[in-house]
Amino acid sequence: MCDGCGQMLAVRYDLPAVAASVTKEALRQRPPGMYRFRELLPLGPAEEPVDLGEGGTALLPLPRLGAHLGMRRLWAKDEGQNPTGSFKARGLGMAVTRARTLGVKGLMIPSAGNAGGAAAVYGARAGLPVAVVVPRGTPEAAVAEAALAGAPVFTVEGSIATAGKLIAKVAPRLGWFDLATLKEPYRLEGKKTMGLELAEQLDWETPDYLMYPTGGGTGLVGIWKAYEELAAMGWIKTRQPRFVAVQAEGCAPVVKAWNDKAETTVLWENPVTHAAGLRVPGPFAGRQMLGILRETGGSARAVSEGEIVEAQRLLARTEGIWTAPEAAAALAALLQLRDRGEVGPGDRVVMILTGCGIKCAPPALPAPVHLEGGDEEILARVRQRLGA
Ligand SMILES: *Cc1c(COP(=O)(O)O)cnc(C)c1O
Repeated sequence: MCDGCGQMLAVRYDLPAVAASVTKEALRQRPPGMYRFRELLPLGPAEEPVDLGEGGTALLPLPRLGAHLGMRRLWAKDEGQNPTGSFKARGLGMAVTRARTLGVKGLMIPSAGNAGGAAAVYGARAGLPVAVVVPRGTPEAAVAEAALAGAPVFTVEGSIATAGKLIAKVAPRLGWFDLATLKEPYRLEGKKTMGLELAEQLDWETPDYLMYPTGGGTGLVGIWKAYEELAAMGWIKTRQPRFVAVQAEGCAPVVKAWNDKAETTVLWENPVTHAAGLRVPGPFAGRQMLGILRETGGSARAVSEGEIVEAQRLLARTEGIWTAPEAAAALAALLQLRDRGEVGPGDRVVMILTGCGIKCAPPALPAPVHLEGGDEEILARVRQRLGA
């Protein structure tokens, strides 16, 4: 954060120089993973990333879901394939890399779950101490991930906003670094690689719509920054997709500000949603996100808890992808846009599936049928369950 104005810092590159130093063909020869875009990342010449194989996630065409929705050009960028099961690996991998190089003593991070887990994991990989502060009731797997990696985990009553305020007070007293969203510029640079990959995977064509499940908003701002930089390098023709910020009805500060035509977000009182990563009542980047939605002709949509679960089931049933509730919200919002006729059958739509479902509590499901007894009895039970 800038000590003078309180706003975020951003990394700037000499983009003409980058464009002159690397070609699309040269890029194609490099191994997968986010550090293949090294020229567009804040790494010194000899700086080694703290690497667990993050990035390089699949861009999956969704033909069966598309047929179901009446949409022909639909993709999912499956960020659940990252180490730690979410795109947070990109941001925290990059931030921990920089923190190690800059010689910080320790890192403290406020989190709704996945960011804390990822920070702890990359901290372990780098040999850097990390402490995590999460709200009570944070999904168990993310807390376990952090604790298993050796990070002390603290809980607070409230939300990530409460955790953030606490760290802002405590971290300076300890001489530890506050790794809160967008208060340092490197997490954003890591998340930016989602956009760089997406551009390359779509052969440098820009999609019409980009559905993004929005909490703190670093992913959205990061992808936007990727397209800005690629446009400045002359690598893409269409500057930006239309960004759709997706939130849960129980915590929708960006959607509210969008509907109110406000310049910035106001703190959402009593945020509630089972999509933990969307439980961010006061995103630091609120103003910037709203600017991006306006500038790209995008919008903001809120979805209900029920719509999230239905979308999660639909994606798993049609394409076999068990995605996180946050990510399922992107599909729920797409259903709304389709029903309202705001996206058409031929529009190119990319949903960012920010995390994997395996890390989260599953929706209600049929219990497994236990098989025992004689052959005929077993066959009868199997028949009954299969309806065959
Ligand atoms: C953190 C998180 C989000 C929200 O991402 P931001 O970039 O902070 O808006 C969405 N989904 C999952 C799974 C997350 O962990």
